[in-house]
Amino acid sequence: MKYELCEKVRDLEPYEPITGEYPVRLDANESFFPMPQTLRNTFKEIVDTLDFNRYPDPMAKELVKAFADYYEINPDHITATNGSDEMLYLLASAMLTKGSKVVVAEPDFSMYRFYSFLSENQVIAYQKNEMMQINVDKLIQTVSDNHADMVIFSNPCNPTGQGITAEDARKLVNSVSALVVLDEAYMDFWDQSILKEAADYDNLIVLKTASKAVGAAAVRLGFAVANRTITNALRAVKSPYNVNSVTQAFGTAIYREKDLLRQRRQKIIDQTSALYQSLLKLNSTYPLALDITEPCANFVFIRTPFAEKIFRYLLSKGIAVRYFGSAGALRITAGNEEENAAFLGALEQYVLENELTENLSKNR
Ligand SMILES: *Cc1c(COP(=O)(O)O)cnc(C)c1O
Repeated sequence: MKYELCEKVRDLEPYEPITGEYPVRLDANESFFPMPQTLRNTFKEIVDTLDFNRYPDPMAKELVKAFADYYEINPDHITATNGSDEMLYLLASAMLTKGSKVVVAEPDFSMYRFYSFLSENQVIAYQKNEMMQINVDKLIQTVSDNHADMVIFSNPCNPTGQGITAEDARKLVNSVSALVVLDEAYMDFWDQSILKEAADYDNLIVLKTASKAVGAAAVRLGFAVANRTITNALRAVKSPYNVNSVTQAFGTAIYREKDLLRQRRQKIIDQTSALYQSLLKLNSTYPLALDITEPCANFVFIRTPFAEKIFRYLLSKGIAVRYFGSAGALRITAGNEEENAAFLGALEQYVLENELTENLSKNR
């Protein structure tokens, strides 16, 4: 007798971001700010006094309170998780059953599909329009026509950097009987959040993460915000000690630094805007054929026939961005001044070395 992996997982490969050493990392939408020394000192004190032999607080009460204070919401509506990723898996596996219908938008964050695949949900794709935007009436139609159990998407969207307004989000939640999961991982960079009203609906979960604007991707911390009934269920289905004590204590210290977080968020918005403006300028100086959409997150999404060539060229210069082969697109996370300058300089160099004018006319 020989053990065989089940078919579902037989050919899967572990998730691997870009491997190799790249001095300029603009590929994962992380904050470009390092952890400040004051917080590092606090972390050292935490490590010196933490009860490592004890299990963590299953409800992460202190942490949830610090998060609630920062976003001005009620701690009773919050579930803390080991990154948003843990909650995404729980939503597909525990909040749905095999064969449950999930509407996802295309293109969007690939993990929604992946966890639904593992949980054997039935995935229904809503295709965004040519401008990469969601038409909320059509999305509502798709959810209703298919009698979907859940609809999930990121707002603003990773990777397009586009979003729907708070008004449209409310319309969606009010118009469908499905559970709406609104992933606001990047909403710190835009002003169309419905986080504060999440608990007013009976069919809404808003997701937040410490991995982007908050600059703590390493600690693995996410939050789900919903009414008490949903929150009870989420707290009940998660594994009891899902957020370890170190993460709870570090996260608490981080979210208490409200002024620092707000200042940094604004600087990231400014850097994204500067990157976008520079790309527009480059695109008018050279015939780069970049299709650039104005971002409402911390990255710029570009479609171009040269996406793969530019991606490989940048890698050879030690600059990592994200390449989407099927969409012919690049996603460039805003870096600090030096990183943005390195990226823009290399892109310009690419144009000059490759005489894109000729390539372009051949492509058309
Ligand atoms: C980065 C990102 C997250 C964050 O996931 P974590 O597990 O909290 O790091 C969630 N949703 C989207 C759309 C993202 O891009």
